[in-house]
Amino acid sequence: MDMQATLDEIAEAVGPQIGSGVVAEYIPRLAAVNPDQFGMSVVMNDGSSYGVGDFEVPFSIQSISKVFTLVLALQASGDAIWDRVGREPSGAAFNSLAQLEFKRGIPRNPFMNAGALVVTDHLLGVSGTDANPLLDLLRTESGNPEIRPDALVSTSEAGHSDRNRSIAYLLSSFGNLRNEVGAVLDRYFDQCAISMSCAELASAGAFLSRGGVRADGTELISPLQAKRVNAVMLTAGFYDAAAEFAYRVGLPGKSGVGGGILAIVPGKCSICVWAPGLDSAGNSLVGMAALDEFTSRTGWSVF
Ligand code: GLU
Repeated sequence: MDMQATLDEIAEAVGPQIGSGVVAEYIPRLAAVNPDQFGMSVVMNDGSSYGVGDFEVPFSIQSISKVFTLVLALQASGDAIWDRVGREPSGAAFNSLAQLEFKRGIPRNPFMNAGALVVTDHLLGVSGTDANPLLDLLRTESGNPEIRPDALVSTSEAGHSDRNRSIAYLLSSFGNLRNEVGAVLDRYFDQCAISMSCAELASAGAFLSRGGVRADGTELISPLQAKRVNAVMLTAGFYDAAAEFAYRVGLPGKSGVGGGILAIVPGKCSICVWAPGLDSAGNSLVGMAALDEFTSRTGWSVF
């Protein structure tokens, strides 16, 4: 298959839709992003990479960061993280706190905000505030040592964070945060505010299509752990539309409100697509369409 030609065809197919959807507005800084952008990258397991459109333009990775923090928590402490967070789809909005009360502070999964805050807290406990294993991982795997949070996005989210603060204090009230609530929130806002391009994210996530093996051949997580992370992405990676993504695309993936989606074809490749306009569930509208095109054209899906 000529992967570059496939990406060019997909870009042409979704072209008329570029700019549709609504950019996330609850983080004012994200509302300022130009919606008329689209990029897509593929990194094959043999190391070859392809891109189309704005695939080298950095964007706010937002909730895609939650895949990498989960990976780091599993790497550091194995299955212990599952004592503090579940792995069932929530059927609720990403920032819901409704289920926390009757689940006694155990979030449904690590990708909704409540679960991600617990994972971030766990990592903070392992690494301390001076180290930042997430940035280290993303820099190494993407090959860009300059990757960092966009301070304006982080500050913007911190200034509009009543909901996330409520979730964090509720978690803390159940004893499911071990660090100071403010420190966990600061780390969480920073991780969401990291800027990366499609090319960088597809490279950084490629170990998930290689059974946990990094580009340099070393094992980041075991094949079993990689399989499990992919499973959680498939079932909980798309807010309240995980089933819709499975139906249309059929791959493990994780979206973010910055308009990015990381998707994995296990054994074949890692894909990142970005278009800032979101659909009503909060997933990139054009990104979904492009991945739909990708799996329909290549026949590569887990189903
Ligand atoms: N930083 C965002 C929040 O917690 C992440 C949302 C997302 O991408 O799902 O509100």
